[in-house]
Amino acid sequence: MQKVIIDEARCKACGYCVSACPKSLIELGDSINQLGYQPAFFLKEREDECTSCALCAQMCPDVLIEVFKEEKNK
Ligand code: SF4
Ligand code: SF4
Repeated sequence: MQKVIIDEARCKACGYCVSACPKSLIELGDSINQLGYQPAFFLKEREDECTSCALCAQMCPDVLIEVFKEEKNK
């Protein structure tokens, strides 16, 4: 399970989540969604750095971000 899931189809590219992440793990993309914005996306390749702090989710005015805790199977 990916730790951060962004509903890119509904994102308005305000960039609040980008600013909120202390680890800079969210960026605005190059693709254009159905609303005509370039949606935010989570940098999956750096997922290990995500602390699941959920600051990104708290900042999104449209509540488009879900944050999951890392599953520990040890
Ligand atoms: S949960 Fe925290 S560390 Fe992870 S992407 Fe969101 S703001 Fe960044
Ligand atoms: S805060 Fe929400 S609407 Fe704004 S860029 Fe991030 S995901 Fe998109």
